[in-house]
Amino acid sequence: MHSRDRRIVHCATRGVALAAAVACAGAPAAGCAGDSPESAAPASSAVVYDGATLIDGTGLPATEAARLVVDQGAVIAVGPQAEIEMPSGATVVDLSGKTVMPALVNLHGHVGFQRGLTYDAANYTRENIVDHLNRYAYYGVGVIVSLGTDAGDVWSGIRRDQEAGNLGGARLFTAGRGLARPNAGPGAAALRTSAYGVTSEEDGRRYVQELAAQGVAFVKVWVDDRGGSVEKLEPALYRAIIEEAHQHGLDVIAHVFYHDDAEELVAAGVDGFAHLVRDREMDDTLVAAIVEHDVFIMPNIGISERGRHSSPPPWLAAPILAETVAADVLARAADSFSRRAADAAERAARSYEQMERSLARLHAAGASLVLGSDSGVQDHFYGFSAHRELELMVAAGLSPMDAIVIATSRSADRLGLDDAGRLAPGARADFIVLDASPLDDVTNTRRISDVYIGGTAVDRAAQRAGWAAP
Ligand SMILES: [Zn+2]
Repeated sequence: MHSRDRRIVHCATRGVALAAAVACAGAPAAGCAGDSPESAAPASSAVVYDGATLIDGTGLPATEAARLVVDQGAVIAVGPQAEIEMPSGATVVDLSGKTVMPALVNLHGHVGFQRGLTYDAANYTRENIVDHLNRYAYYGVGVIVSLGTDAGDVWSGIRRDQEAGNLGGARLFTAGRGLARPNAGPGAAALRTSAYGVTSEEDGRRYVQELAAQGVAFVKVWVDDRGGSVEKLEPALYRAIIEEAHQHGLDVIAHVFYHDDAEELVAAGVDGFAHLVRDREMDDTLVAAIVEHDVFIMPNIGISERGRHSSPPPWLAAPILAETVAADVLARAADSFSRRAADAAERAARSYEQMERSLARLHAAGASLVLGSDSGVQDHFYGFSAHRELELMVAAGLSPMDAIVIATSRSADRLGLDDAGRLAPGARADFIVLDASPLDDVTNTRRISDVYIGGTAVDRAAQRAGWAAP
């Protein structure tokens, strides 16, 4: 299988790089100068995170009493304390009793639209997007892909500043403007005008060319008639879009709802799905085609899971949520659950069970699963919803380790990032320090002690205080 090959390559790379880093760890800095800029730095700038249980994100078993050596924002060595030499003069952070895992990589969000109780295109400003990136980072999300709702060039300025090291928060990637039939893209009215309206194959190709010139990470298409209320992007149009995107080296991710469309999209060469099929359970033929064509799937089930509650669900009272979401917004969310009719919740619960079975079937067949939570849809909270996806994947039958690998290295791989979603030499030092192991209970990913992005601790206390201020 393709995905298995990929994992072996990573393990091999890790082994070689690890050996090099160990050899350098105790040597004078000058002796390692030829290896990389990181190892040329004085030994005293290294920070050693010592003694935690470490989950590296690639699926290897957790390492007890691990040593993680970070320098200049990157991991330079990682492994058992007994095997990794302590660089002389390094700062040591004792993490005994803690668990360390890579920061999450979320391939599906929508930045910029919510601000307090308002949800509006007028909120789409640099300041608001940066606030959202900080909220993601607070929750240990190191990378977020905004999927199809980023018009204009605000995002490219943010990306430039992040790449230059002048701006923190989760690293932003985007699909720019997604493509749909006119006014038939995102479901929410506030998001709709952000998409391109495609009326011909020529349109589709021209828009893809614009996106490629802007440096987007993916091309997003919506193939959905929203229950018959809008025009669905036809196969001839998305085939042209997919072909053009592939000519520019871009992967195409489809919002999909219907089983029939998913089959057609796989045949047309789509690279990923932003959702599970939601009109029925995914059958063996579709699952086999997805595996054969190595199409990646975002389960993205948290947003659907919300529908099965007709009273506020327990997770809405998670302590971490109150640290980042204002009380009036939480009250509105609680109210929206309370106002749902019992029979509507019952129907949603049946539909959700189908999705869980589809997910289990995809996983069992070896399909490539990635994290995508649709965070940034109204009251589907930045950062928190990623942790909900982990919990729901486990509830659907995946192991905590599977869910973590999906949400870290697997997602990074599909974004083409080999420096994220894993704790291996050469990777960015994006990691979460947890008070308890998520391998025992996956909701422990929310028991966050600290988050490091590019080797720098996120000042979570200051962020909390800012968000709590009136
Ligand atoms: Zn979405």
